[in-house]
Amino acid sequence: MADTTTEYDLIVIGGGPAGYAGAIRAGQLGKKVACIEMERAGGTCLNWGCIPTKALLKSAELYAKIKKADVYGISVKEVGFDFATIMERSRGVSGQMAKGIESLFRKNKVDYIVGKASVPAAGMVEIVEGDKKGAFLKAKNILIATGCKMRPIPGLTYDGVRVMTSREALANRKQPKSIVIVGAGAIGVEFAYFFNSLGTQVTLVEMLPNILPVEDEEVSKALQRSFDKQGIKIHVNTKCENFRVGKDSVKIDLVEGDKKTEIEAEVLLSAIGVVANLDGVLGRGAQVELDRGYVKVNNRYESSIKGIYAAGDIIGPPWLAHVATYEAVSAVNGMFGHGEPKRVGNFPGCTYCQPQVASTGLTERAAKEKKLDYKVGKFPFLASGKAVAAAESDGFVKVISDAKTGEIYGAHIIGGDATELIAEYGLAIETEITIEDVHKTIHAHPTLSEALAEAAAATSNEAIHI
Ligand SMILES: Cc1cc2nc3c(=O)[nH]c(=O)nc-3n(C[C@H](O)[C@H](O)[C@H](O)COP(=O)(O)OP(=O)(O)OC[C@H]3O[C@@H](n4cnc5c(N)ncnc54)[C@H](O)[C@@H]3O)c2cc1C
Repeated sequence: MADTTTEYDLIVIGGGPAGYAGAIRAGQLGKKVACIEMERAGGTCLNWGCIPTKALLKSAELYAKIKKADVYGISVKEVGFDFATIMERSRGVSGQMAKGIESLFRKNKVDYIVGKASVPAAGMVEIVEGDKKGAFLKAKNILIATGCKMRPIPGLTYDGVRVMTSREALANRKQPKSIVIVGAGAIGVEFAYFFNSLGTQVTLVEMLPNILPVEDEEVSKALQRSFDKQGIKIHVNTKCENFRVGKDSVKIDLVEGDKKTEIEAEVLLSAIGVVANLDGVLGRGAQVELDRGYVKVNNRYESSIKGIYAAGDIIGPPWLAHVATYEAVSAVNGMFGHGEPKRVGNFPGCTYCQPQVASTGLTERAAKEKKLDYKVGKFPFLASGKAVAAAESDGFVKVISDAKTGEIYGAHIIGGDATELIAEYGLAIETEITIEDVHKTIHAHPTLSEALAEAAAATSNEAIHI
């Protein structure tokens, strides 16, 4: 319930991983806090991003696995799926998780207000849409956590039938026979894996030289080889031009150097990135300084106007849920005197296709560009007993460390459960342990995590299994 009479210690605008976590943290600290969300608690992540896509990917992965059950000595007579049910399950998972956030709000005494908020000036929030429209709330502190929107391709109408962003794709119930996905970042790649696994003909187009362009080049290339084998058509170094949306299909020109080819697909999914979402948020007295549309903040996550803070996607890259949460919790701790806020340093990035991709820290190219004196340790899952036993021996672990001190600069994993494994190297970098420490730590046998220690050992040519 909105309380229009008393002054809140904190009003959070946006209920995504930044907003809900910041509000809950303030509640834990015994502060009077409200979180205003115009759609549903959980934000993009729980409703239209991380969580529903992982539900879809689980269905795709399971279907692909059952189809190759004979590898494990198991015969399955008939295997099929119902696309609409897969999509419904994903929506159900989102609903369940969003409900969970609403109950955490109650537990932590966060006033949860469904509505659109605007900041006329520091210390004041106006509800401009929803049941409480017209209410003004007073706040000692305001945290803007309004996130991002999908970047549209200019000139296209996102009708949810022929042309979609991830959002329309998650709401769709009809499986397309063919799809062209523009943009091969994590979102594009995950949808490519999902649709291809279920038998949709997938074309994935990327302007840059590699799919997953932010990842280590060796990893991107390995994923491309795996996707090629899975039947996904990939065009890198390729621009999309001249979009023609018809009644039954979309036609696009693919331009690679001076070569131009036309492709046609039933559906176009655009995954070309995101833009800051500040629609109507900043009133005349709250014109905080922006940088390329994102709210500019200092090391305490405070904007150019005192008392107005921002965290999450709205302060710019990396656009990741765990980074958003870290920023908001850090901002709130700092606001209320619970330790010095910290800006994001090392963080993991994960892509949940099969094989999975996960990384933390510097790529080899970045280490080269920084002119670091580094060594590489690499270990293939083909030499891991656990991976071979699971028939998931695609991929490798690659770790980059200082040639003299053993300081770990970065780790890159492609393979089964890569997204779970990366946490160890994240902790290693955060706690500043060396490559030797990882090598000398006993890892249980047989586990995939042994590959992390073996990659560390490989740095000094001491890996046992290669
Ligand atoms: C398809 C997809 C898959 C993704 N997968 C992953 C993944 O696997 N891992 C990962 O780390 N990240 C993933 N992301 C990114 C992740 O979703 C974002 O980084 C994360 O949600 C950012 O959190 P946030 O709180 O900053 O913003 P958001 O989650 O976007 O939340 C912002 C909220 O603010 C609300 N809002 C906006 N304006 C107002 C207003 N004026 N008043 C009230 N409310 C308002 C919005 O409705 C929204 O709910 C994915 C994104 C997409 C699109």
